[in-house]
Amino acid sequence: PIYLDYHATTPCDPRVVEVMLPYLTGDFGNPASGFHVYGRRAARAVEMAREQVAALIGAQASEIVFTSGATESNNLVLLGLTSSDQSRRRIVTTAVEHKSVLEPCRILHERGFEVVVLPVLPDGTVDLAAAEAAINEETLLVSVQTANNEIGSIQPIAVLAELAHRRGALLHTDAAQAVGKIPFNVEELGIDFASVSAHKLYGPKGIGALYVRSGLRRRLTPLLLGGGQEFNLRPGTLNVPAIVGFGEACRLAREEMPEEARRVAALRDLLESQLANRIPGLRFNGHRTRRLPGNSSITFPKIEADVLIANVPEVALSTGSACSSGTIEPSHVLTAIGLDWEEAHATIRIGIGRFTTREEIERAAHLIAIAWERLVEAGQ
Ligand code: PLP
Repeated sequence: PIYLDYHATTPCDPRVVEVMLPYLTGDFGNPASGFHVYGRRAARAVEMAREQVAALIGAQASEIVFTSGATESNNLVLLGLTSSDQSRRRIVTTAVEHKSVLEPCRILHERGFEVVVLPVLPDGTVDLAAAEAAINEETLLVSVQTANNEIGSIQPIAVLAELAHRRGALLHTDAAQAVGKIPFNVEELGIDFASVSAHKLYGPKGIGALYVRSGLRRRLTPLLLGGGQEFNLRPGTLNVPAIVGFGEACRLAREEMPEEARRVAALRDLLESQLANRIPGLRFNGHRTRRLPGNSSITFPKIEADVLIANVPEVALSTGSACSSGTIEPSHVLTAIGLDWEEAHATIRIGIGRFTTREEIERAAHLIAIAWERLVEAGQ
């Protein structure tokens, strides 16, 4: 099938696989084994990857902590910061965060923290007036995603960082969907912590990073206990091949992002216009301009999204985030932007990426439109 679910995950770029392979066989050393060349070679590879990840987001290598992915990074910052610092007891987040932010927030609420969940505007961006009112002298952390995994909306992170810092709070952003897709620079945005995931940017699964601004590392308590790897923040033998692949994926993204983002956005616009020409009453969700280039979230009239998807088996589509689809609850993101139950259940998410071709987009648009026409004719 034609793969149009790049928000769920991306294939490893073959160039990434190429650089990983030697670290699965000949260069298999443990980077903590400093006595021999096996270990030293692995350690050098990890440090090079750390620099490549740092370079993509405008950080220093010493500010990158490798984790198993954005889920772990989100947990590490939310739970790790609050277990060592309880001087302030308010956490501010938004209604459209990924579950790996919202679930730790739920636990923090149970532990007595005051969690403020900011509403978003119908375009999916955070209500800044509400943010300004919520971020106060009691606020320890503001955690807001950079871009949404369902509707693609990009948040005003620089403004939120400024609001947070004015009140002495720290700013974390879950940048899993943004890094490698849109310009993202921790210095320019004023970020203190950022979560990154390799498998969203053509790297391997099960590897990611937490960016920790220099000087803030000691404020985090690790989630796991063990050896002293990753600056005592994340023990466990490093996944060297995955880290090397993550580094290469970041290097490629840095080189190719401007061109790729233009190409992918043009394909997305083509898909949206072809569908809109054939299906009256389509509704596109998310911010019209401040949106991920490969994202399209579409609410269809008169049908249910899962029925539509089942009728387009030649295209790999999804209703919402991969982790919550399959439940009958409507997506919390679509609900937060004001869609009702029926609209949320009539919404599909399309993710276009590096390996999507124009032919695939034209074919997918045609197949989706035909399936919709048939279902409507048949009265579903
Ligand atoms: N945050 C966002 C916004 C995501 O889209 C995802 C994707 O699943 C995650 C976090 C989790 O990332 P990972 O799969 O690396 O744990």
